[in-house]
Amino acid sequence: MSTIFDKIIAREIPADIVHDDEHVLGFRDVNPQAPVHVLFIPKQPVATLNDLSPGDEAVVGRLAMAAARYAKSEGFAEDGYRVVINCNRDGGQSVYHLHLHLLAGRAMAWPPG
Ligand code: 5GP
Repeated sequence: MSTIFDKIIAREIPADIVHDDEHVLGFRDVNPQAPVHVLFIPKQPVATLNDLSPGDEAVVGRLAMAAARYAKSEGFAEDGYRVVINCNRDGGQSVYHLHLHLLAGRAMAWPPG
């Protein structure tokens, strides 16, 4: 099923893109929950974390690496940041194209709501 993120990958709708490589796109969340809120998505269509198969380890690895590199490049490595992957209804997932949230620029609370 096609999602709004497929349209962003295809450049059919605009996004504030901060990272673009062969496998991963990173762009600012339209409704930021922190001073920095970037979504990292695989370019291949994976709906949720549940839909990964053995052999797909690199899919999540690339998202995490891209987020960590971006956080470091923006100066957040030392103070820290949060990465989140929401899965399905109880996880709070609203867009069914796998994405990793990078939140930075403020202290995060725990537990999350
Ligand atoms: P989820 O709740 O699925 O984990 O996160 C989906 C995120 O996508 C939300 O934080 C939401 O603000 C963001 N989002 C939804 N539609 C768009 C869009 O069209 N553009 C951008 N940049 N972000 C979007």
